[in-house]
Amino acid sequence: MKLFAIFGNPVAHSKSPLMHNAVFKALGIKACYTRVLLKDGAKLRDTFLKLNLSGANITVPHKEAAFKSCDEVRGFAKKAGVVNTIVKEDDKLVGYNTDADGFLYSIKDFKDIKNILVIGAGGTAKALVQKFLDEGFDVSILNRSEKRLSFFEQSGAKTYSWDNFKADSFDLAVNTTSAGLEDESLPVPDDMADKIISNIKYGADVIYGKKTPFVKLLEKNGIPYKDGSDMLLAQGVLANHLFLGKRYDTQTIQKYMEKVFRY
Ligand code: NDP
Repeated sequence: MKLFAIFGNPVAHSKSPLMHNAVFKALGIKACYTRVLLKDGAKLRDTFLKLNLSGANITVPHKEAAFKSCDEVRGFAKKAGVVNTIVKEDDKLVGYNTDADGFLYSIKDFKDIKNILVIGAGGTAKALVQKFLDEGFDVSILNRSEKRLSFFEQSGAKTYSWDNFKADSFDLAVNTTSAGLEDESLPVPDDMADKIISNIKYGADVIYGKKTPFVKLLEKNGIPYKDGSDMLLAQGVLANHLFLGKRYDTQTIQKYMEKVFRY
């Protein structure tokens, strides 16, 4: 029996156990996926090994710690500096990132996107910003505080804190903060949110499972948006391929995951 887990804090909201267990059950795979509340990211590697896991996903706020916990990081994650999927290969912990491709898949219906405002500068923002830059989008980042912006300054993106942000027009604004996950707060002050919303074509929030204040504001203003559920599904399918060595095709995995995770 193989054991998989998701690490996070908070982690109770995560639908990843339901999604992956549905696939294991439907395909008769001897595996189980659980959740681990991890307070200290520095303990990720030890906890992974103690639990004898075969693989894991990592959510808020440990994606950067996960990057540091791996023996090897492959593909896009190497460039982004954040890992959301770890697979044990022989005795090595190998890290990947499936968030950014998952997000791009989720906004495939949004047309003519050229410039994007990313709200937040945490682990998820790092992955999305790197992918947006790779895809040739013009990217601006707006974060509550300045400390995390230095990482992005060399990347070619424009960076702003709440103190020096000037609302411009954007094709897409994405909330990548955890504001609204466990509380009812917007990711920026109310007046700034109103200015942003009045100058965008599309919106997105990476949080899923509830209507965040940001999503409610998009809805109130009639702006087409995606919440985090399509991203969750797409990143989950990609992670499952890594866990099972791509033994099953994407449609099969997606079919079983989709049945359980929509709310
Ligand atoms: P991190 O902890 O790495 O980063 C959090 C970011 O949010 C920081 O920029 C922080 O700003 C900001 N922030 C936190 N609280 C507030 C607040 N009240 N107001 C304004 N800004 C705030 O988190 P992650 O990047 O790992 O995760 C972020 C979110 O993305 C989580 O809600 C997670 O559930 C979701 N997620 C969803 C996925 C999906 O598949 N749908 C996949 C991955 C993540 P500061 O620097 O000032 O502290």
